[in-house]
Amino acid sequence: MNTFKTKLGNPFYILLFVSLASVSIITFYGKTKFKKNQSLPTGEDKNMSEQKTVTKTDEEWKEVLSEKQFYILRKAGTERPFGEEYKEFSKQGEGTYACAGCNTELFTSSTKFDSKCGWPSFYDPSDAKNVNTFEDFHLGYKRTEVRCAVCDGHLGHVFEGEGFDTPTDKRYCINGAILKFVPGQKVPKPKTLEKE
Ligand SMILES: [Zn+2]
Repeated sequence: MNTFKTKLGNPFYILLFVSLASVSIITFYGKTKFKKNQSLPTGEDKNMSEQKTVTKTDEEWKEVLSEKQFYILRKAGTERPFGEEYKEFSKQGEGTYACAGCNTELFTSSTKFDSKCGWPSFYDPSDAKNVNTFEDFHLGYKRTEVRCAVCDGHLGHVFEGEGFDTPTDKRYCINGAILKFVPGQKVPKPKTLEKE
C-alpha cells in the first residue's frame, strides 16, 4: 500500500512543484519587465541604464549592421584576433565606446588595457552599466558571455582572475567591430573604482 502511494505520489508532487515553479518564474519575470518599462526615461539620455529595449528582426538588423557586425551581435560570432578593428582600438585615445547596434554607451577608454589577447580589452564597463552577463557553455565549458543590455546584442566574454594588474582582474574581451568609438575628453574611471 505504502509503495503504491509513493509511486503514485511522486509524479504528482513533481508536477505540482514544476507548475508552482513555472508560475513563480513567470510572475517574477513579468514584474521585472513591468518595472523596467515603468522607469523609461523621457529624455534623450543615452547613458541611462534603465532604458528602452531595442528589438528588431534579423532583416531589420541587416539593414543597419555590416555583415560582420550582424554575425557578432545577432549570431554571437567572434571576429578574428589581431584584426583591423583591434589595430584601430590600440591606436584610439580618450573617449567612449558605444554599441554599434543601438548606440548605447558600453565602455570608456578609462578601463581599456592591453591584454595582448588580440581583442579590445576593458577591466570594467562604464558607469552607465549597460552590459549584462550570461553563462555560456557553447565551447563545452563555462564562459561568461557579455551582451548589450539595450539591444541584447552579443559583445564578447568576460574572464576573471587571470592575474592582470588591473583593479578588477577582469578582462572584458570585446569584439572591436561592434564597438563605436566616440572620441572625447578624458573620461573618469567608473565610480565603483574611484578608491583605486
Ligand atoms: Zn546594443
